[in-house]
Amino acid sequence: MSAAATNDIWIFIDLRSRRFFDYSLNAVCKARQLAMSTAGKAVACLLTAPAAGAVPARSEDDACVLPAAAETECLTHGADQVLVLENSGFDPPRADIYAPALAGAIAEAGPRLVLFALTDFGRELAARASRLCRAGLIADCKDLRVDPRGGVVGLCPAWSGSVSAEISYAPGWGTSTGFATVQPHCCRAVPVGAPRGEVIRRPVAELAGPGRLRLLGSRSAPESQRRLETAEIVVVGGAGLGSARAFGKVRELASVLGAEVGATRPPVIDHWVDEQRLIGQTGKSVAPRLLISVATSGAAQYTAGIMEAGTIVVVNRDPGAPMFEFADIGIVADANEFLPKLIERAQRSVMRRLADLLCETGARGTRGNGFGARLRKLREGRGWSLEALAEATGQPPEFIAQVEAEEISPPVSFLLGLAGALGVDPGTFLRREEQASIRDRRLESYVRRTQNYSYQTLTEGGAHDHLRAFLVTIEPHQTHKPVAYKHEGEEFVYVISGELELTLGSKALVLKPGEHSHFNSYIPHKLKSLSSEHTRCLVVLYTA
Ligand SMILES: Cc1cc2nc3c(=O)[nH]c(=O)nc-3n(C[C@H](O)[C@H](O)[C@H](O)COP(=O)(O)OP(=O)(O)OC[C@H]3O[C@@H](n4cnc5c(N)ncnc54)[C@H](O)[C@@H]3O)c2cc1C
Repeated sequence: MSAAATNDIWIFIDLRSRRFFDYSLNAVCKARQLAMSTAGKAVACLLTAPAAGAVPARSEDDACVLPAAAETECLTHGADQVLVLENSGFDPPRADIYAPALAGAIAEAGPRLVLFALTDFGRELAARASRLCRAGLIADCKDLRVDPRGGVVGLCPAWSGSVSAEISYAPGWGTSTGFATVQPHCCRAVPVGAPRGEVIRRPVAELAGPGRLRLLGSRSAPESQRRLETAEIVVVGGAGLGSARAFGKVRELASVLGAEVGATRPPVIDHWVDEQRLIGQTGKSVAPRLLISVATSGAAQYTAGIMEAGTIVVVNRDPGAPMFEFADIGIVADANEFLPKLIERAQRSVMRRLADLLCETGARGTRGNGFGARLRKLREGRGWSLEALAEATGQPPEFIAQVEAEEISPPVSFLLGLAGALGVDPGTFLRREEQASIRDRRLESYVRRTQNYSYQTLTEGGAHDHLRAFLVTIEPHQTHKPVAYKHEGEEFVYVISGELELTLGSKALVLKPGEHSHFNSYIPHKLKSLSSEHTRCLVVLYTA
């Protein structure tokens, strides 16, 4: 190649999506800074098919950026010049076809440096084009500067980000042009004013692609695989968790929070989690409102994927971990001790929310309140089938399906069953004042029951307990005086002697000694002795 060196800094502009284009604009910002040091120009280089119009977008993120709009944006973000290389073969973008065209233009102009935002495409294109130009390539730069002697120095993370290596080009390496890939967030693009620079269009006469590759088709990943990128909350697990089993706690936390699971590279390599969950330079970029990063060191290759996250919570046992530099909230703790506690607190708050949603439904008698949707998210997050949740809560699967579809509003006892399935004490998700009022009601009914002589408490001093047992004695052929016969919770009745008629709503059951019944105590219920002797039964109440 010719080495008619200029002091210009070129930037390859990626038009494949708005996100990639924004990364390119960040690189324009970096190029502008460097161009000031080299006294050269920042030149944005686009490769487009002349007729490239609106490519039908499947989603906002999929939408390719239109070249005309991109040219203007490059100029308003500080490019001194936009060079547009045109050929109908540039659509769809392919690194093997772009590389020779780009290398040709670079050889002709001889810029000092060519920057590529670090994406899969940018990485491949930089490698191919630098090879064709027989030029040096500094990969994965966190930052770049021009040293006092005019040489370009890249600052590159090594050893999981704990070391920053300064890398430059070997003297006399082929050409005076250097190539570098820069992290997508190496610089924050900001508009610098009205466009002042020029746009130069140059047709590329012939494409020198290898010709052995043929693109048969392309489509975006299905929505189910893109949930991580669009999630509002992401919980990321790192190598510090130490085992697949411990990584399960990350999944558990994510399921309770209705979050998506992400991972650094080691958990993917160790097969604790699917590679679709990888976040970072070679994985996905996420932009959740809340990101919880557990036992991750903060390697630049990982943090490149979380730069657009809102609030970042970091859990690491090493107070010196670089990851804390990214934290809005930093927690120095052993993940294996901390996660179970956090999960428990999160479960309580989820149950609290479910209880609120259920109360709202009860009050308004409407569907679509979100209880069913929240329940489905909770169930799916745990990887439970309808059948598994049905079994865990003692309900038929059809009932769960109806609750999730918000066709019916479940009784409060269902919430108790759900709490049991999640291993949460139901009392913990009630508000303090509700807990107090329930305590009072429980105490009241306890006293009333013990003052009614047909009751004998078997759980002395247990007025505030959720689970209480009574020995109930009913006079021959008498209905026992119904006290608080309808209440939230569950009831278990076991007949010791005599014959009992148990009326549940409009249904009557006859129970003989040794027989029992377990029911939702919110259904109005009555006990009657059918014998000519006293009927004695064990009654166990479970109340919230
Ligand atoms: C070209 C290239 C591309 C790469 N691409 C990616 C990528 O896309 N994504 C990616 O993630 N990585 C990528 N990597 C790997 C990357 O460099 C790091 O090695 C990786 O991110 C480290 O993962 P980690 O933070 O989970 O593990 P480590 O660096 O091993 O850190 C583990 C952390 O856990 C903490 N810890 C240990 N035990 C506990 C405990 N019990 N409780 C709490 N904290 C604990 C430690 O203090 C440490 O800070 C790439 C590397 C290269 C070379």
